[in-house]
Amino acid sequence: MSESVINLVRADLASFGGYSSARTAKLSGEIWLNANEAAWANPGDADGSCRRYPDPQPPALVQALADLYGVQPAQMLVGRGSDEAIDLLVRTLCEPGRDGVLFTPPVFGMYAVSARLQGARAIEVPLVDSQDGLVPDIDAVIAAAIDGNAKLVFLCSPSNPGGRSVPLAQVVQVATALAGRALVVVDEAYGEFADEPSAVSLMAEHANIAVLRTLSKAHGLAAARIGSLIADPALVAVLRKVQAPYPIPAPCSALALAGLTPEALSITAQRVAQVRSQRARLQQALATLPVVRRVYASDANFVLARFDDAQGAFDALLAAGIVVRDQRAAPQLGDALRITVGTLEQNDRVIATLSALKAST
Ligand SMILES: *Cc1c(COP(=O)(O)O)cnc(C)c1O
Repeated sequence: MSESVINLVRADLASFGGYSSARTAKLSGEIWLNANEAAWANPGDADGSCRRYPDPQPPALVQALADLYGVQPAQMLVGRGSDEAIDLLVRTLCEPGRDGVLFTPPVFGMYAVSARLQGARAIEVPLVDSQDGLVPDIDAVIAAAIDGNAKLVFLCSPSNPGGRSVPLAQVVQVATALAGRALVVVDEAYGEFADEPSAVSLMAEHANIAVLRTLSKAHGLAAARIGSLIADPALVAVLRKVQAPYPIPAPCSALALAGLTPEALSITAQRVAQVRSQRARLQQALATLPVVRRVYASDANFVLARFDDAQGAFDALLAAGIVVRDQRAAPQLGDALRITVGTLEQNDRVIATLSALKAST
């Protein structure tokens, strides 16, 4: 099964060895003079933990994340946010000018950015605005992927900014149809907030499914820049060679480990529950406002809503000191704003501001 996934790697990278760093060779010794590091710690580095280059994939961090996501360390690639993993996948799989990257607008912008930078063709299959919200047209995704020689198919689940999860049965449908042709990447940046289980459960059966996770959203560590790609171990081994030499800064790794202790994880779980209940509250309140045309169902930590006057709503919120995401430049979202679920008090202010807007029009 791994065989077919490894065949998706660019032919010219088949025997690529990557950069051989001072940490690549597994040597042991007492006095380390092989990497031109300083013999003394910087005065600003109180415990001296940053004097030496870090392990490219710090084993303790990889293990902690593998445990968190319920996978094996060999399936893990840890990088600078899941953004780095997106970029690595596109660069490693797509030959410029030949291969395609499929995604489903309106959606997270990095798939398009990475495709553009690599000179890979962007294959856009618009989400369909249905009763259930903005959802992918699975048959169209499969047809366009085959037609356009897609090497990568990004399914954002829950989708940003659409908000809906892609049911696992649909992920299987796409992966089965594209086996041997494309890697199906399920971006679960908001997976913690959803009911739909992670697509990692499908990977044993479908080697061409990969999953993206991050500590940036539910775990509250956006500035630490720690994201994970979970994929077939053979593919992960190739991606590690393409990745920058020492991608995980030691302070970030330490911070992530501190954020993954059982105590920290239980607090994170409580906050996720809080977001889910606040999300319901915000959705209910928005739905009653006359200035709101439609509130979308959300499996994530934000709410997408359409307004009669999105500019007016955006401006009113801004005047009240509240910054939300203007989605009007995104396809199909010419009247929409995306509001991140905040604390109870913050959500109250959003609701109060938009309620007052009604009074003034
Ligand atoms: C925020 C976000 C990411 C980026 O996460 P990082 O790990 O911070 O790079 C990836 N995918 C989606 C859909 C996002 O919304």
